Amino acid sequence: METKSTSAPKFSTKTSGRAEPALLELFTDSIKDIYWAEKHLVITLPKMKEAATSKELAAAIDEHLTQTQGHVARLEGVFTLLGVAPQAKKCDAMEGLAKEGEGIVESTEAGTATRDVGIILASQKVEHYEIATYGGLTQLATTLGLDEVADLLAQTLAEEKDADLILTEVAENSVNYKAAEEA
Ligand code: FE
Ligand code: ZN
Ligand code: FE
Repeated sequence: METKSTSAPKFSTKTSGRAEPALLELFTDSIKDIYWAEKHLVITLPKMKEAATSKELAAAIDEHLTQTQGHVARLEGVFTLLGVAPQAKKCDAMEGLAKEGEGIVESTEAGTATRDVGIILASQKVEHYEIATYGGLTQLATTLGLDEVADLLAQTLAEEKDADLILTEVAENSVNYKAAEEA
C-alpha cells in the first residue's frame, strides 16, 4: 500500500473529518489497482479466446473483451471525476489469476472441451474478483459522496455479473457435458 499523500481532491464530499483523506486515498489507490487489472485483462483475454475451442466460449470471451475496454475507459472517467491523472498500480491478485489461467491452458490439450472447462473456471475467478472489487468500491464511492463515480462503477459491476452468468451458461449448456464425454 502506498503511504505517501496525494494532492488535495478537486471536489468536496458530503462528509468531513480527519479520517476522510486516508479513506479517499485508499479509494483512489484501489481505483489504480483495478485500472491495472482491467488493462491487464485487455492483454490476457485474447490469449484465452485463442486457446478456447467452443465457438460459444470464444464469442463470450470476445464480447467481454469489448466490455473490458469499456471498463478501462470508465475508470479513466473516474480518474477525471477524482481530479487525478489515470495511473495503474500493479494488481497482484489479477496477475496471479491471469497466471493461473495461463497455467491451465498449458496443462490441458489443445482442441479439447477439458481445456474449455479450465478456461471457464479461471475466467469465473477473474469475474468474481472484479465483482468483489466493483461491489465494494461502488459502496465506498457512495459513502464518500461521490455519486457520479458510484454510478460509473455500478455500470461496470453489472457487466461483470452478466459476464459471470454467461460463462455459467456456456459451461452448463455444452462445455461441461462435452468434457465429461471426453473423459
Ligand atoms: Fe472488467
Ligand atoms: Zn488488485
Ligand atoms: Fe470482467
